Amino acid sequence: MPYKIIDGNKIAKSILENIKNKVKNMKEKPGLALVIVGNNPASEVYVNFKEKDSKEAGFYCERYNLEEKISEMDLLNLLNQLNNNPKIHGILVQLPLPKHIDEKLITDSILPHKDVDGFTSLNLGNLLSEKTILAPATAKAVIHLIESTGIKIEGKNAVVVGRSNIVGKPVALMLLEENATVTICHSKTKNLAEYTKKADILVVAVGKPGLITKEMVKEGAVVIDVGINRIGNKLIGDVDFENVKEIAGFITPVPGGVGPMTRTMLMENTLKAMELQSKVLNK
Ligand code: NAP
Repeated sequence: MPYKIIDGNKIAKSILENIKNKVKNMKEKPGLALVIVGNNPASEVYVNFKEKDSKEAGFYCERYNLEEKISEMDLLNLLNQLNNNPKIHGILVQLPLPKHIDEKLITDSILPHKDVDGFTSLNLGNLLSEKTILAPATAKAVIHLIESTGIKIEGKNAVVVGRSNIVGKPVALMLLEENATVTICHSKTKNLAEYTKKADILVVAVGKPGLITKEMVKEGAVVIDVGINRIGNKLIGDVDFENVKEIAGFITPVPGGVGPMTRTMLMENTLKAMELQSKVLNK
């Protein structure tokens, strides 16, 4: 069966184009604050891309490059100012943060209506109800990419490898919401292949290059590789792309799959955040 590559760059570009056209006609522009602490090279690359996307979409963007040694209190004060700034509709704090800063405390200090990453306890918890304010961007990206194949999620066996609070669990909950039968695998799963082999839809979010081999994939499956692993100057995913593509029905590349879609979902969330905030103000 011939495989098809899911071109995340192309899909993301067309969604960004729609956002840009919408924003062009808006008097007040969506405002996004990007906060980066320290000099982690990977974080800088991600934030540069987000800044570029945000400018391309026509957003108002503020970027804060903070010193590695900033205190938790100073960071909380900045987030408090951004929470109260009417020009800022979305706030994004790039993770990971330095060890002396409590990540959960920081993410939870962002107003849920401005939490465009969808990482606050409220936004994550809302995945259990139908009252989602802003859903986690990577999980939204995964669902969009699966839907782009034209394959219906309902009734399919979906296997998610990885159970982090920011990727694996939200993806699993969103697939469940779409009526897939969902299995979640993790580091303590025995015989991983036994589960992955049964997946019509396989989502991998682990951070281990080459974890998923051809023998572990069902013929014709939709394979979404969330993993990002830096090997020298190259980025690779968790799936052995070259061999798995021969058996998969659809597969995302790394780079060029989930990454660009996640960034576009952040822009979509920022636009949604602005709409939510104007609704609250006009009540
Ligand atoms: P994480 O918090 O480290 O979680 C990794 C998960 O993988 C854990 O649940 C862990 O299980 C599981 N795991 C580890 N070894 C395993 C194994 N041998 N077999 C099965 N499961 C195993 O990572 P994360 O934040 O979810 O990110 C996962 C990957 O996605 C990383 O490469 C990250 O860079 C990438 N990522 C990409 C995007 C994007 O936009 N493309 C966004 C976010 C993250 P336990 O729970 O048992 O420890």
